Amino acid sequence: MQTNFTPAQLADPHVAESEKILRKCVHCGFCTATCPTYVTLGNELDSPRGRIYLIKDMLENGRPADAEVVTHIDRCLSCLACVTTCPSGVDYMHLVDHARAHIEKTYKRPFMDRLVRAILAAVLPYPDRFRLAIRLSSIGRPFKGLLQRAPALKPFAALLALAPHRIPPASIYSAPASHHAVGEKRGRVAILTGCAQPVLDPGINEATIRLLTRLGVEVVVPEGESCCGSLVHHMGREEQALASARANVDVWTREIERGGLDAIIVTASGCGTTIKDYGHMLRLDPAYGEKAARVSSLAKDITEYLASLELPPQMPKGIIVAYHSACSMQHGQKITTAPKQLLKAAGFNVRDPAEGHLCCGSAGTYNILQSDISDTLKTRKVRNIEATKPHVIATGNIGCMMQIATGTAIPIVHTVQLLDWAHGGDIPEKLKDLPLA
Ligand code: SF4
Ligand code: SF4
Repeated sequence: MQTNFTPAQLADPHVAESEKILRKCVHCGFCTATCPTYVTLGNELDSPRGRIYLIKDMLENGRPADAEVVTHIDRCLSCLACVTTCPSGVDYMHLVDHARAHIEKTYKRPFMDRLVRAILAAVLPYPDRFRLAIRLSSIGRPFKGLLQRAPALKPFAALLALAPHRIPPASIYSAPASHHAVGEKRGRVAILTGCAQPVLDPGINEATIRLLTRLGVEVVVPEGESCCGSLVHHMGREEQALASARANVDVWTREIERGGLDAIIVTASGCGTTIKDYGHMLRLDPAYGEKAARVSSLAKDITEYLASLELPPQMPKGIIVAYHSACSMQHGQKITTAPKQLLKAAGFNVRDPAEGHLCCGSAGTYNILQSDISDTLKTRKVRNIEATKPHVIATGNIGCMMQIATGTAIPIVHTVQLLDWAHGGDIPEKLKDLPLA
C-alpha cells in the first residue's frame, strides 16, 4: 500500500513503525474471511482491511480520531486472526495498538463510556478491588434487566451477567513464595500470578505449581508482580500498561539475578501475548528496553514449557475433551499443537470444534464494552463446541473460560488442570460430580 507520510511525521518512531506496517498491506482482502467482526457484521469497515484504511487515513492526515474510526476500532477484538491469515505479514497487532493509543490521546468519548472504561481500568487489574467488585455485584444483579435497556448502561449489565455468583477464597499459592522441586531439581521458573485469574479460579495456578514441582521444577511466586497490563493496553491506556510492564520487568529481573530463571510461566494466554511483547512495548525506553526483551524471551505459556519436559504418556481415560484454542494462544503466540498433544499423551480424547479460528467474544474487556457482538460470537462458539459432544472443555485463557461458561452447562477447565490430574494430581473441582469413565 502506498503511503504519503511527511519526513516530519516519520520522525515519530510510532508513526514510522505504522508506516512500515501499512506499506506491507497489498489490499488482497484474504484477512476479511477470518475476521470475526466482518463475518458477523458484513461491513468492510469492520474488517482488518477496512480498519487498516481508516487508521492510514487518520495517521497520514495527522487527524484526531473521530467517531467513525473509534466505532470500528472499538469493534475490533484484537483476536489477531487476521495476522495468522495475512500472506503479506502485515503486523496488524502493533498497528491497532498505535491506533488505540492515538484514539485515547485525541478523542473525547461520551461521559458514560469514559466512566465505564475508567472503572474497568481502576478495578480489573487489582485482585483485591476485583474481588470486592464481584462481591458487590450481587447488589446490582436485580437491576440487570433495567441496565440492559439503556444503551449507555449496557456495559454494567454485561458486567453483572459475567460476574460469578460465588468466588473461591484467596489461595495461599498466590502469595510470594518459593515452591521447592520434588526429587531431583531440573529447572527453576517464576510464575505470573495474574490479576483476574487468581480471583476467579485460583485452582489454575495451584494445579500449575503442583504439577511443575512434581516434575522437579522449582516455582517462584515473586514479590511485587502486578497485572501484565494487557487489559488497559487494549483500551489504549499506554502509560498504565507500560507502568505495569516496567514493574513486572523489575520483579523478574531481580529474580533472574537472584537465582536464574529457565522461564516465566504464564497460565493465561492473553497475558502471555502481552508479556512476550514487553520487549517491543518498551523498546524506546533506554532504561528498560534490554531488560524487557530478556523477560519477553523467557515468557512461556505453561503448555509450551511442559512440552519441553517430556511428560510420561498416560493410559486412555475415555474422556472427550473439546479443546478451545484462545485467540491469544493460536494467533497471538502461535501455540497450536502443544496443548492438544499434551492432552492426548495424557490419555484424553481430544476434539477440535469447527471454526476454531473464530474468537469466542471474550477478548479482555470486549465482552463488557461490546456485549452484543460478543454474545453473537459466544453463541456461535458454544454451538461448535457442543457439536463435538465433549465431557469437558479445555482452554488456556481465563477470559475464554468465563465467557464460554456463561453459554453452556459443559464444564470448562484450564488445560493444565487436566494435565495435573492426569499426572498424579487431584481431579479438577468442576469435574468431581461428573459421571466420567
Ligand atoms: S484483530 Fe480480529 S477482529 Fe480485529 S481486525 Fe483482526 S481479525 Fe478482525
Ligand atoms: S490479508 Fe494482509 S495484505 Fe491482504 S488486505 Fe489483509 S492485511 Fe492487507
